[in-house]
Amino acid sequence: MGRVNEMKCRELVEQVTNYLEGALGSTDSDRLDGHLHSCIACRSYLGEMRVTMQVVSSLPPEPMSEELEDNLLQMYRNWAGSVS
Ligand SMILES: [Zn+2]
Repeated sequence: MGRVNEMKCRELVEQVTNYLEGALGSTDSDRLDGHLHSCIACRSYLGEMRVTMQVVSSLPPEPMSEELEDNLLQMYRNWAGSVS
């Protein structure tokens, strides 16, 4: 069993912005990649996040607000709930 400390979907959601910004450490980044391999749900979530991040990054530079992070989490929950 080489799968030590496997990443959960919830953790991926928390780390995905860091991942897309390249701000994630290599260990976490590897775990996230590993999770993406085995989780189609998170793969498509990451795809949507990429688009969202592109939109966000085209706006004036500003730290991501908590409100926006909440919205993204909510978006994921709604979406995850509809797939089951
Ligand atoms: Zn997942």
